[in-house]
Amino acid sequence: MNQQTIAKSVELTGTGLHKGVPVTMRLEPLSAGRGIEIYRKDKNVYIPVNHKYVVDTKMATVIGKDGVRVSTIEHLLSAVYSYGIDNLLIVLDNDEVPIMDGSAASYCMLLDEAGIKEQNRPKRVLKVKKSVRVEDGEKFAQLNPSDGMVFDFTIDFSHPVIGREYLRFNFTKEAYLEEIARARTFGFLKEVQYLRSIGLARGGSLENAVVLDDNRVLNSEGLRYPDEFVRHKILDAIGDISLAGMPIMGEYRAFAGSHALNHALVSKLLSSQENYEIIEAKNQESRVLSYAFASS
Ligand SMILES: [Zn+2]
Repeated sequence: MNQQTIAKSVELTGTGLHKGVPVTMRLEPLSAGRGIEIYRKDKNVYIPVNHKYVVDTKMATVIGKDGVRVSTIEHLLSAVYSYGIDNLLIVLDNDEVPIMDGSAASYCMLLDEAGIKEQNRPKRVLKVKKSVRVEDGEKFAQLNPSDGMVFDFTIDFSHPVIGREYLRFNFTKEAYLEEIARARTFGFLKEVQYLRSIGLARGGSLENAVVLDDNRVLNSEGLRYPDEFVRHKILDAIGDISLAGMPIMGEYRAFAGSHALNHALVSKLLSSQENYEIIEAKNQESRVLSYAFASS
C-alpha cells in the first residue's frame, strides 16, 4: 500500500474551544515522506505533528515549537489518521483547531470533500513488537503486539449517566465513521464553570460538547450513542497515538486513559527500538492496511 495525501485543498472556519475566537483551518496536500505538519500562518512557524512536539496534555493535546502552540489537535488528527492520510499540511490562523461539534464528524466531511490521493511511495507502518504500558494509579494505557489495529477502552465514572462503559473496537475507516467519529467530547458543568473562571472553555457550549450536571445530560438532544463517552475516548486515543507519526499495528488497551497517558505511552513505545519496528507496508501488512483504510 502506498502513502496518501488529499486530492485538493479544503477549508473550514469555526471557533476555538478555549479562547472562543474564530479560526480558519485549511488542509493542503503534502509530498510523500513529509508526514503531517501544522503551519501557523499568523506566526510563520511550522510544527511537525509528532509526539516530540507535544507541550501540554492537561485539557487537550497541545503541540508547539519556538513558543508557538496549537491546542486541541486530537479530534482532527483522529479523522486524518482514520482516513489513512500520511502527508498533510494543516494551515491555521490562530492557536486552536476549530472545535466544530466536539466530535470528528466535521473533519471527516472536510476530508471527504478533499478526496484521497495515492502517492508513489510505500506506506510505512509501526508494528508493536513488545508490550508497553504506562500507569497512573489504577489508570493505564498499553500497546500490545497484534496483527490488527484494535482499540479496547474502559471508563468508570461514578456518575448516574456514565458509570462503567467498555468498548473493543476493531479499527477500519468504515467502522470509525459509523461508530466513533460522531462521538462528542464531554464535560461536567462544575468543571466548565471552573474553567470559565480561569479564562478557559470560553468557546465551550452545548453546541460542541456533551455537558453533564450531577445527575443528567444537559443537551436537549441527548446522546448520539448510548455509550458515547467511551466512544469519544477511543476517538481521542486514535488522535493521540497518531503522534507516533505513522499507522500503528497493535492492540491499544486503556482503563480511564487520558491525553497525558496516551502521550506517555507513545513516548515510551518509541524510546526503545526493542519495542517496535518500522516497516514498509508490503504483502501481509499491506493487506491489513488496505482493508483498514478502504473507502466504500
Ligand atoms: Zn476529545
